[in-house]
Amino acid sequence: MELGLSSEDLAFQRELRRFFETEYPAVLKDKIRAGQRLTKADHILSQQALQCRGWLGMVWPKAHGGPGWTEVQRYVFESELERAGAANIIPMAVIYIGPVLINFGTAEQQQRWLPNILNSTEFWAQGYSEPESGSDLASLSMTAISDGDDYIISGSKIWTSLGQWADWIFCLVRTSREEHKQAGITFLCVDMHSPGVCVHPIIAMNGAHELNRVSFDNVRVPKTNRIGDEGRGWYYANVLLGSERISYAHIGKKKADLKRLKHIAAECRGDQTASMLDDPLFASKLASIEIRVDIVEVSVLRALSGELKPAAISALKIQCTECAQVITELYLDVLGRACTAFPDLNDPQWANQLGSTPAIGAKASDNYFFERSQSIYGGTNEIQKNIIWKALNKG
Ligand SMILES: Cc1cc2nc3c(=O)[nH]c(=O)nc-3n(C[C@H](O)[C@H](O)[C@H](O)COP(=O)(O)OP(=O)(O)OC[C@H]3O[C@@H](n4cnc5c(N)ncnc54)[C@H](O)[C@@H]3O)c2cc1C
Repeated sequence: MELGLSSEDLAFQRELRRFFETEYPAVLKDKIRAGQRLTKADHILSQQALQCRGWLGMVWPKAHGGPGWTEVQRYVFESELERAGAANIIPMAVIYIGPVLINFGTAEQQQRWLPNILNSTEFWAQGYSEPESGSDLASLSMTAISDGDDYIISGSKIWTSLGQWADWIFCLVRTSREEHKQAGITFLCVDMHSPGVCVHPIIAMNGAHELNRVSFDNVRVPKTNRIGDEGRGWYYANVLLGSERISYAHIGKKKADLKRLKHIAAECRGDQTASMLDDPLFASKLASIEIRVDIVEVSVLRALSGELKPAAISALKIQCTECAQVITELYLDVLGRACTAFPDLNDPQWANQLGSTPAIGAKASDNYFFERSQSIYGGTNEIQKNIIWKALNKG
């Protein structure tokens, strides 16, 4: 696709490459390359480095402190960030709630929350899923009862990514059971430091603490924290889900991972006589995934320019997910036994636990396990297929 970039976009790409090579904190790139888990302070450092250039609010218009980029520029930025091995922007604030506030928030809400997102002094979490409501999100039951100028909310949210770092959480809550289930949902921003909010960690199978259950016990939330109208939360939530699904593309990362994979495979002699790249089965799998990533890249650009309908975005989410998972499987094919060491990756010195086993194997199995979750979050692949099926049957 780079063939299609205009001369301005190519100049922009060169500027980004220079920035990531010379200005972006090297300490973070080193940490990521070494397979170390990033802390909240690391993410703040990364986001503030981007914001020094005014780039953090990458999908925001200039009027709200964003760079006002075209879709192609946004794509080039994300690709270059991943190509350089920099930290991905945590999406909950910048990509999810930011645009909702810009489109549907009051001027007061925008002033209160947007600047602190851009200066990384406040982190956000997403409170959609509940213990009994995941795929069937509209069945959610966390209640918000009106009490004068406030709502009093009670219930639980689950799988809340990075809830332990969050100062705010945007929640879908039930304000009515009278109408059909989507119509009784309201969109509320809740201060995570309010009395009655409690974060319960969930440790994933790779040992990482990213997920949480968040319980709300009679938490008082001012009505001024409601986005838009009461009962219209489902509409705002769906606008947000559209950008959430495209944000999983990570084409730059996929290409960088494939490049590295080829490099490792060239040195790896599966049968002791030839490089893995000469193994016809492996070479065919590699060629097939490279072609798929190219096709996905074209679709992402079409999605960013608004050309794709919601069902096509669902198809794209499935494609992105499957490509990411296949790439992690190919790493296991190449690295074999080295992937069976499971050091505690929460220990910054984890490589010391491995003895002679190459550290890259442990990181490959960590990635393999992590990527399994991509076909679940943001709506499972089965649910995306339902959306496609319904669209096809409407004609
Ligand atoms: C790593 C990770 C991070 C997450 N982060 C967040 C977050 O920050 N905030 C948040 O709100 N949520 C988050 N989630 C939750 C995620 O959105 C839900 O897990 C997802 O929507 C699925 O819901 P569920 O887990 O309740 O599974 P269920 O809905 O119980 O589904 C279980 C299985 O049944 C299948 N299934 C269910 N219904 C149907 C159907 N109608 N047709 C066909 N198959 C069906 C599903 O595909 C799945 O395989 C995260 C999840 C993960 C794994």
